[in-house]
Amino acid sequence: MVTIGDVPLGGDNPIRIQSMTTTDTMNTLATVEQSIRMIDAGCEYVRITAPSLKEAQNLKNIKDELRKRGYTTPLIADIHFTPNAAELAARLVEKVRVNPGNYADKKKFETIEYSDYEYEAEMERIRKRFTPLVKICKEYGTAMRIGTNHGSLSDRILGRYGDTPLGMVESALEFLRICEDSNYFNIVLSMKASNTQVMVQAYRLLILKMQELGMNYPLHLGVTEAGDGEDGRIKSAVGIGALLEDGIGDTIRVSLTEDPEFEIPVAKALVRRVESLNLESLKIAISPKSKKLSNVKLNKLKLNYNPYQYERRKTDEIANFGGHNVPRVIADYSEREHVTSASLFSVGYHYSVPTDKWTITEQACDYIYVGDNVTRFEIPGTLGLIYNKSVWVNLADKTRCYPLFTFEEYLSVKTSSDQLNFLSVTLDDILRVHQSKRINKVYQFEDMLNHEYYRCDVVLIFETSKEHGMAEQRRMFMELKKRNINVPVIIKRNYKKMKDEDFQLYAAADMGALLLDGFADGVMLSYQRPQKKGCDLQLINSTSFGLLQATRMRISKTEYISCPSCGRTLFDLQETTAKIRERTDHLKGVKIGIMGCIVNGPGEMADADYGYVGTGPGKITLYKGKQVVERNIDEAEAVDSLINLIKQGGDWVDV
Ligand code: SF4
Repeated sequence: MVTIGDVPLGGDNPIRIQSMTTTDTMNTLATVEQSIRMIDAGCEYVRITAPSLKEAQNLKNIKDELRKRGYTTPLIADIHFTPNAAELAARLVEKVRVNPGNYADKKKFETIEYSDYEYEAEMERIRKRFTPLVKICKEYGTAMRIGTNHGSLSDRILGRYGDTPLGMVESALEFLRICEDSNYFNIVLSMKASNTQVMVQAYRLLILKMQELGMNYPLHLGVTEAGDGEDGRIKSAVGIGALLEDGIGDTIRVSLTEDPEFEIPVAKALVRRVESLNLESLKIAISPKSKKLSNVKLNKLKLNYNPYQYERRKTDEIANFGGHNVPRVIADYSEREHVTSASLFSVGYHYSVPTDKWTITEQACDYIYVGDNVTRFEIPGTLGLIYNKSVWVNLADKTRCYPLFTFEEYLSVKTSSDQLNFLSVTLDDILRVHQSKRINKVYQFEDMLNHEYYRCDVVLIFETSKEHGMAEQRRMFMELKKRNINVPVIIKRNYKKMKDEDFQLYAAADMGALLLDGFADGVMLSYQRPQKKGCDLQLINSTSFGLLQATRMRISKTEYISCPSCGRTLFDLQETTAKIRERTDHLKGVKIGIMGCIVNGPGEMADADYGYVGTGPGKITLYKGKQVVERNIDEAEAVDSLINLIKQGGDWVDV
């Protein structure tokens, strides 16, 4: 457990929620008022940037004013590059956050090969630079977060470990060892990245390393530069939710390019979700065994996949599922009374009566599950329809129509599609032995799938009725691997009676966790709103494509890597992000970094293709990858210049 003012963290304490101010730290009143809005929304720690000594000193005024107004919430000083500001802040506030990538290093974007001798000499230099802060924290009872960011690893770490989760872990461990050498243990760790795959792997690897070293520090979870709106929420839920659902994480920060008080409801929903799950069910997923880090034990021996490195599950290609195909999106129209051409508008197919043509958007679903609902119009050429088997067998025209079998139906199958069949299965179906009427013999699941009487052109749909269905579905994937079954799999989840925002976050957390491990070949989401009839198919469709984009499994839109902004930001980041989004949101697959400051921005925008970075009041610097292309241009012209740069880079398409 870590002591942070009077709000302890880790151990048996609840998962804490935190955020960071975006005001100028020298503007005491604005920072106090924003902090109060955050605290009133449910923020349990408030982080404030301290870029130099004067801001560090002003933390005292901010703290005094908050206390005067009756707010005792612990404050955290956010430090990059400035040890002197850290040493002052550590005497004034309850916690300091240091970034091991830039506490004692300047970023040069150079990859340098260090010999062992040079590496040790560097470590000695860092020890000298960092130890005074450790001693101050120890003396003043101040907590510390060693917060590694994927985008700002030091050149030393990059030279030795590369841009990898292992490099992130080693970066934190270097600083951690210095702390432990001074018998200072009031420490929290984080491994943030904008890439959710890297982020999740880094936290898992950190836990493994800590176990090997006998360490047990609490973890702060976050996805950096997640962006704004629906994209930012889904991306945060994918990364943070995937870990929380495994019982990992003691405090979270959702980073949105929005006012910080809007981050809190998202964080609360994610915590509420994990608190409602019975994490005991993780035992069936053979993963961390308890929700508390102190008991977490990733039992690598029992896992039959590697949770530390992304690898897509190898599957046979059936129709356009599995193999090298992107994961498919199936929309569920089975609850609709009628399906007409107009109904498809919500899932990306726009029919024009005058031209008698379909326009297909980048986020058009691939299949529609219509259940028993026979459609009576010509469907678009890229779309497939899935019928319940009893209706499908009687269809006069079966072109691009495929049957869905229940498990019992499949056991006695007589007629099936010679192209593509869907089979609904539960964990129980996979585990138990079956009596097949067709072959009159007791069979295991894998025998049945492989038997000559059964067709092999089957795609499985994983069903679960468990609240913590992610754990059960993960177990199902492990069972398939154990049984050498390589058929493609769709993960299906149903959500009922919740708010739209919660549906998006929960679906992203549940499905994201499986997609980040490369497990699924498609997603099928259902959601029934509380009082209202029916469901919002557009919301469900955009959530499906959003979570595939957030896990980088299927890119269907532009990716914005925008920082949440902080006291260092020199322009209106929210307004600028909106302007850039308006001009570029049709550039599928292009990654655009929009960062508030030159000190941290270029490093933090990670693998963006183009960067828009604030360099001074009204001044912007543009990047192509990590290379500066135009320096200090006027903000008024900067968005146009960014568009020109994208055009020159060959990534522009006209709408
Ligand atoms: S990149 Fe953004 S959030 Fe990070 S320090 Fe700079 S302005 Fe603040």
